[in-house]
Amino acid sequence: MSSAPVFQRIALLGIGLIGSSLAHAIRQQGLAAHVAIYTRSAETLDRARELSLGDSYHDAAAGAAADADLVIFCAPLGANTALARAVAPVLKAGAIVSDVGSCKASVIRDVAPELPDHAVLVPAHPVAGTENSGPDAGFAELFDGRWCILTPEEGTNADAVEKVADFWRQLGSNVETMDAEHHDQVLAITSHLPHLIAYTIVETATDLESDLQKEVVKFSAGGFRDFTRIAASDPTMWRDVFLNNREAVLDILGRFTEDLTALQRAIRRGDGDKLHDSFTRTRALHRGVIAAKQT
Ligand code: NAP
Repeated sequence: MSSAPVFQRIALLGIGLIGSSLAHAIRQQGLAAHVAIYTRSAETLDRARELSLGDSYHDAAAGAAADADLVIFCAPLGANTALARAVAPVLKAGAIVSDVGSCKASVIRDVAPELPDHAVLVPAHPVAGTENSGPDAGFAELFDGRWCILTPEEGTNADAVEKVADFWRQLGSNVETMDAEHHDQVLAITSHLPHLIAYTIVETATDLESDLQKEVVKFSAGGFRDFTRIAASDPTMWRDVFLNNREAVLDILGRFTEDLTALQRAIRRGDGDKLHDSFTRTRALHRGVIAAKQT
């Protein structure tokens, strides 16, 4: 537990996997005197209350954001514009608005124009997650040892950026700052494409005739199981990711399709050298991931 709270009042708008993990971690680290929670449905708000995730519970985003020093959007990306419009009138002078969204250029596009001049937008993306969702899914250690990427626009108040960076460091994350477009290109390959591939493989298996489908489940430990875990991720969140990072995903998908076609040709031609070369190069990258402690 750190000495003094960094923020008097933090508002969490959305209390699913990421929002509830933040709530646990903020409490554990003593980063706020008060955590105000808003979520869309009465059911989820009741559950957040049962789990004692916050200090106050609100059925309107403005109620949670009023008087907050830090407001964090933790809902799917498609909700951002409406949330920004809802909280804009109540933001106090110097309030920091941040988020946790998996795409960053769209956050600046959707949120920045709605905010009053006296608030500061510091977009953030914790590169941490699981396939689970909802308020029961969160845990305080989710961000520990993971990256959090900040994508403030040029000219953003440096103190506000540093406060958000410090907040994430206290949650155990390593912080990096980059341009929002660059973030979206990097995440298209490291996160968005893998999810798209997993969704596709599992969909292909789901469409198989029932006999074969039973065998797929029975023998899934052969590799398929890992794809089913990724493809169990929240459909709304992932729909919004692909709608909000369209260009970067389409670009990387084009490259991926070319590489897949090259492997397809190697298999058809019986070109073992090509297959062996490709699989040797990919092994080296995995060693790099292990060395970077990102497994
Ligand atoms: P989640 O577990 O599905 O929770 C979503 C929360 O947002 C719930 O409280 C839900 O409220 C609320 N919500 C959903 N639609 C809404 C709408 N239209 N308007 C207002 N509130 C709405 O989601 P999550 O996994 O925490 O993801 C939240 C954000 O974190 C997303 O932007 C995602 O890109 C980002 N992110 C996710 C991961 C991951 O691995 N999951 C990792 C990094 C970043 P109700 O339940 O009350 O409807």
